[in-house]
Amino acid sequence: MIDDTGQPQMLITNGTLATFGEANELIEGGALLIVGDEIAAVGPSSELEQQYPTAQRLDAGGRLVMPGSICAHTHFYGAFARGLGIPGDAPANFPQILEKLWWRLDKALLWDDVRMSALVCLIDAIRHGTTTLIDHHASPNAIDGSLDVIAEAVRQAGLRACLSYEVTDRDGPRKAEAGIRENARFIYKAASAGGGWPEVAGAFGLHASLTLSDPTLARCAEAATPLGAGFHIHVAEDKADQRDSLRRSGLRVVERLHEAGILGPRTIAVHCVHIDAYEKDFLRETGTMVVHNPRSNMNNAVGVADVHGLLRRGICVGLGNDGFSNNMFTEMKTAYLVHKLQQGDPRAMPGDVVMLMAYRNNARIASRFFPKPLGELTVGAHADVIVLDYHPFTPMTAGNLPWHILFGVGGCEVTHTIGGGKLLMKDRQLLTLDEEAITAQAMERSVQTWNRF
Ligand SMILES: [Zn+2]
Repeated sequence: MIDDTGQPQMLITNGTLATFGEANELIEGGALLIVGDEIAAVGPSSELEQQYPTAQRLDAGGRLVMPGSICAHTHFYGAFARGLGIPGDAPANFPQILEKLWWRLDKALLWDDVRMSALVCLIDAIRHGTTTLIDHHASPNAIDGSLDVIAEAVRQAGLRACLSYEVTDRDGPRKAEAGIRENARFIYKAASAGGGWPEVAGAFGLHASLTLSDPTLARCAEAATPLGAGFHIHVAEDKADQRDSLRRSGLRVVERLHEAGILGPRTIAVHCVHIDAYEKDFLRETGTMVVHNPRSNMNNAVGVADVHGLLRRGICVGLGNDGFSNNMFTEMKTAYLVHKLQQGDPRAMPGDVVMLMAYRNNARIASRFFPKPLGELTVGAHADVIVLDYHPFTPMTAGNLPWHILFGVGGCEVTHTIGGGKLLMKDRQLLTLDEEAITAQAMERSVQTWNRF
């Protein structure tokens, strides 16, 4: 069970391995050796069982073994919005959704709510096989230390996350400054923790162009640059962001952010629904990454991003859930469907392009923050692995795997989740988090949060 270097070993045997990555193989009767937090060998079960006779065995029983999903944009803090009634008339557009729901909910959150919101999302992520999440946090009445609270929950869960606090001017200069401080403090702390804290990283969070003044953007660029940090910001989610940017600066959103020094190869521009060709070229030239969130875009009725146009330019477009359930299989299905409907063309958004976003591109985005390869079952990658009770009734190959996943996998088939080499869920039983206790505490906190709301 322990190798020469004292690291625990786990050998997953008898699985159908979908490796993803460059090799993109489907290995039937395959095995995967994990040493410490890393994948150490991948190959036929018969060979690896002979080579590593003392490793702790996990028999996959012919089930599908895949890399854990990556979510490139989420909001743990939104968890308590589930079932929440918004007083008055229903929001009629995106700015009203922000004002009537999100900017009231985030103000109602205190530190314990931040912790419980994160924990319930992390349970959901483990249950649905999402092992890496890039979170964007807001709690204007509990800013200082909020990212530490979330980081602690992430470490308790055994998952991997990149955290940001969203800086905004909407709550006044004092809170904007506190947001800047929180990002800078946390990014420094996560980076300087080095190998001791490999599962948590930081990016510099910004809400969106429409709630950020030029001086605040300049302050953020000034604070982030010495840390070598990238930004995580909502970009042109709705037309309102473009209208505001043109009014403030005479520039469209992406150009305004470029002028402010926000774009770059470590920056995540979320949504990019309402950007023009000129703005796409800025994203490409700066190497800025984009995250597509189709469920959220449909829910807010803001439109559908031109993902094809972005990908054709060579821009790295990944997939996020923007606070929807942490089941990335559902997000993949939504991406697969919405572009077809919107374009009136069943050839739009083929399954392999969905997989490109969800696996290769999300892994590229996550690799800006984590040291080892992710989203693939290859030697040297982070050992973030899931086992799914999926048994195809039609031939399955590496070539048609995307369509098996899109049409056959719902997310509830995940029976085992391994994060950083540690079993987090075994036969659907959570091992790191006490789901019953967390649910009960979240219920208590959410009632209080709703009362403050
Ligand atoms: Zn978002």
